[in-house]
Amino acid sequence: MLDRHATLTVAEPRTPYQLTTTPQLWLEVLVDRPYPRDSQEDEQILTYSIPPYLTVEIGDILSVPFGSQVIGGIALRFIENLPPGLEENQIRPVEDVITKGFFPDNYWQLLTKIAQYYATDLITVVRVALPKGLLRSSQRRIRLKPDAIPPGAEVFCTPLSRQILSLLKNQKEGDYSAKYLQEKLKNANYGIRDLVKRGWVESYLEAPKSTNIKLKKAITLLITDFPADLTENQRKIVEILRHQGGEMWLPELVQLAGTKYFKPLIDKGYVVIEDREFLRLSSAIMSRDQPKTLTSSQKQALETIQTLKGGESALLHGVTGSGKTEVYLQAIAPVLAAGKSALVLVPEIGLTPQLTDRFVARFGDRVYVYHSALSEGERYDTWRQMLTGTPQVIIGTRSAIFAPLPHLGMIILDEEHDSSFKQTQLLPTYHARTVAKWRAQLNHCPVILGSATPSLETWLESQDNPCLYLSLPDRIQNRPLPQVEIVDMRRELQRGNRSLFSQSLRSSLETLRDKGEQAILFVSRRGHSTFVSCRSCGYVLECPHCDVSLSYHHTEPGAQELLRCHYCNYGRIHPKQCPECGSPYLKFFGTGTQRVTQELSKEFPHLRCLRFDSDTTRNKNAPRELLKQFTDGEFDVLVGTQMLTKGLDIDRVTLVGVMAADGLLYHSDYRASERAFQTLTQVAGRAGRGEREGKVIIQTYTPEHPVIRAVQTHDYEGFVETELMQREGLNYPPYGSLVLIRFSGLDGEAVQKSAENVAEECVNNFGSDWDILGPAPATIMRVANRYRWQILLKSSGDKADIGGLFRPLKSLVLPKVSMAIDVDPLTIE
Ligand code: ADP
Ligand code: ZN
Ligand code: ZN
Repeated sequence: MLDRHATLTVAEPRTPYQLTTTPQLWLEVLVDRPYPRDSQEDEQILTYSIPPYLTVEIGDILSVPFGSQVIGGIALRFIENLPPGLEENQIRPVEDVITKGFFPDNYWQLLTKIAQYYATDLITVVRVALPKGLLRSSQRRIRLKPDAIPPGAEVFCTPLSRQILSLLKNQKEGDYSAKYLQEKLKNANYGIRDLVKRGWVESYLEAPKSTNIKLKKAITLLITDFPADLTENQRKIVEILRHQGGEMWLPELVQLAGTKYFKPLIDKGYVVIEDREFLRLSSAIMSRDQPKTLTSSQKQALETIQTLKGGESALLHGVTGSGKTEVYLQAIAPVLAAGKSALVLVPEIGLTPQLTDRFVARFGDRVYVYHSALSEGERYDTWRQMLTGTPQVIIGTRSAIFAPLPHLGMIILDEEHDSSFKQTQLLPTYHARTVAKWRAQLNHCPVILGSATPSLETWLESQDNPCLYLSLPDRIQNRPLPQVEIVDMRRELQRGNRSLFSQSLRSSLETLRDKGEQAILFVSRRGHSTFVSCRSCGYVLECPHCDVSLSYHHTEPGAQELLRCHYCNYGRIHPKQCPECGSPYLKFFGTGTQRVTQELSKEFPHLRCLRFDSDTTRNKNAPRELLKQFTDGEFDVLVGTQMLTKGLDIDRVTLVGVMAADGLLYHSDYRASERAFQTLTQVAGRAGRGEREGKVIIQTYTPEHPVIRAVQTHDYEGFVETELMQREGLNYPPYGSLVLIRFSGLDGEAVQKSAENVAEECVNNFGSDWDILGPAPATIMRVANRYRWQILLKSSGDKADIGGLFRPLKSLVLPKVSMAIDVDPLTIE
């Protein structure tokens, strides 16, 4: 067999000869190349040799040959022996190292662990973690470092290097893509490598081109007094600016001042207008805010947090409005002071602008927002920025758990019970809380889990270790929790009230405006009604692609009446007659947000209502803008779905109405009660956060339901105790653990057969630790024409090697059927 260096020499005649013999190591590289849908992990991981003149470390970004192309890759692992079936002469060398140090310490360990636990391929994990397009080889660029070249030194390098230098020098910025240089000059890479080694040029990855960083004009006041030469209008503008802390977004000033004409002020040097990145608010643009004097329970919580050891996670259990955010802020301050960074995960960025604002008000421009709605370019920029290691606070949603902060000092999950922390539709099906704990262990930092209604998992864990349980039992300034009134809608009907609004809710709404207060109405469904059926024959209008009924959508008189599927978004015009029997009597059942908004305007014409659900907030910035309009008092009532439960803190909201709690209570899922309790408690918590007392009215047809009772008495512990007992009896989480295997495909029989194959294999090979339930069709068997089956596995044993156990099952699945493994599923419907 040829020795490795001899092979190299054959492949690349210009490579300098190398005679040293280091132990033979091969390198596994995760390559970025088109990814066929059903391909296996090992097609993405290729083996390369390391040419002697390159030093490669794990996590380096490389360029490697692939067919006739050069593509990007990440150095994953050194191996001593070639994988079976590969001969040394098939192995090609890594072309070059593009960027070093692109990942913080332990990062690959974390990703590997996720792939293992959630039974997916590493590449799938890499895809959620890294900004898209990171590896595209076309992005590699070469930049001249003119100051690093000693005068006259160029004569000592090869003609090739000199040619590259002269190309670069003739470019205005001294900067070309590597591809361009390679096209211009034969074997340009040798020259580039030589120059990089000398430190005369640098090689870097360029941000993806699609940057659309949101720039917005901001206006800043440069004077502190009122100069005598101001006109009355100019004086008014300066006054507004001063009142707002000296800096504002331009459109906001235009609105307040009623003019767009600032030229004279600019010309005199009194104000300046500049583009600012929308997400990265400058500290000055917000009013600054000082740490508050803590209440005694806040203080106690903070002190305990400061004694937490690396890898420990504590529960901060505080009712809504108890001051959890203030504790986060004061816990983070010393982390930053120690030169480290903090990661704050929240369920939804768009819906919690207030939280972001409070962090910015406290920590200024050390706060960055990182979430999946950022453009590729924004994500990439933020990634690079994070890697610099400057102390900062990253606020983001689920995927921000992958933020590459090198010196991580604390991880916080706010509203840790929220189900959006779990990825369910896409792989890997990771839970950010689980990943946060692993990351905290790898980085020796603590985790703070905050909630008013902790998940049963977190609650149970904190019961085992009381020093990790921090409680804020009261609202700030002893503001009372809102009084909760339960209205039995059956009685309302008996009394002849056929309206959507109970007597009690009606009278509260009537006086709302006079008192200058605001209300939130919670509806569990969007659209108008949940289904439409024929009064004559009972026919229900269904989606042709899914096994569900269509929802009626109708926004305003005169608008098109539509029927829409909430699963696949199929839509059709609402028929005038029953498609089955031709009867014109079609009736709407169930109540969605549109219907509530319509009825409100009909019954309370003086109230200004704003609808807030995924139909009205589809646009990226819409939630923030709609909420701002509401906070600014442009509306009296906010009607919305689930989205309302997350962290709204609006002083003037004194009334919260739940239109029909029943929609939340009845689901086949074992977590339905927990979710209903959390949602109702969170919604209720939106009332009375300001000076005035709040009131919550819950309308229901089953007032005796234990969840409703517990919400009424704010009895979290009572609820949890009963619920845990039931879970324990059935060995459901947090006692036993679950894995759900989901199958789907266009061919119903193939899907069923695949599920049966896999179930049989599980029964035969999984040992006595596992209970195998199913296979069974999913609750809604067909969605968007795809048939869905599932197998539920329950275990009380060790879950360490889930990947090893489940991955081989893939081979039992028929072609064109997809199988997804959901470890610790949150819903099993
Ligand atoms: P939570 O996050 O638990 O819902 P917040 O942190 O939002 O609660 O606090 C509720 C309100 O009380 C906020 O307006 C906050 O500014 C205020 N607050 C919090 N802690 C204090 C404190 N120690 N002193 C005075 N006001 C406080
Ligand atoms: Zn009919
Ligand atoms: Zn559908």
